[in-house]
Amino acid sequence: MRVAPADIAINGGERLYILSYRDISQARRIDRMRSDFVANASHELRTPLASLRGFIETLQGPARNDVKAHEKFLGIMHEQATRMSRLVDDLLSLSRLELKSHIAPDAKIDLAPLLGHVIDSLTPLARDVDVSIALDIPDAPVFVHGDRDELTEVFENLIENACKYGQEGKKVEVGLSGGDGKPVEVTVRDFGPGIPAEHVPRITERFYRVNVEASRSKKGTGLGLAIVKHILTRHRARMIVQSEVGKGTLFTVRF
Ligand code: ADP
Repeated sequence: MRVAPADIAINGGERLYILSYRDISQARRIDRMRSDFVANASHELRTPLASLRGFIETLQGPARNDVKAHEKFLGIMHEQATRMSRLVDDLLSLSRLELKSHIAPDAKIDLAPLLGHVIDSLTPLARDVDVSIALDIPDAPVFVHGDRDELTEVFENLIENACKYGQEGKKVEVGLSGGDGKPVEVTVRDFGPGIPAEHVPRITERFYRVNVEASRSKKGTGLGLAIVKHILTRHRARMIVQSEVGKGTLFTVRF
């Protein structure tokens, strides 16, 4: 609230003041989100960095002449450095998307071959975790307005998550429908452990994970679904998450 004396003459020598009120809750909330984000990002980077420093010191000191230890420690250091790169790549991806969030992409993209390519590129990962991916697409092309690389990233993220987190369900089903005036929908279904209801509304938040250790061990950064959400917002598309614990999860992207 601001108060200022008003320079207006009125009868009887009374003084007038102007009071102006402004609701800054939204600005405060954004400030808090920004500082939480910086704290989270720093924390995520600090953990692998601390581990790298620890191993460097060990290699310079106690393990200086231990060839066997060199091999083992360098392997771990490589893993930690790769984890940091993944995180920085995801952070850059998010900030690029934020910069252009108000511009809707307008290329005409056929989703059928795009999904085919995404699945081909994820086949090695699916094989590693013993999951088979089934694709159900119509014969005719299904066009949406979009950005090819960004849409590829969306479906890579969703299908990769379905394979990783839904691993025990052994299969992932990807479907495409609509077009010709009807809303276009892509579905990604897994038969894994599902997501408890209280977590569902939060999984697109940056760094939010249902289980931090499970995400780390699966090479997750906690930013995948935040990136997905940003891309879909730019595409004026929605994501619907339906999950049942013990049965699996269905992600639907509706354009
Ligand atoms: P991460 O890098 O941890 O995979 P994401 O943003 O992609 O981050 O996902 C956030 C969290 O949502 C994951 O850590 C996981 O707990 C949960 N999650 C995402 N997809 C699934 C799924 N198909 N089944 C169960 N949990 C999932």
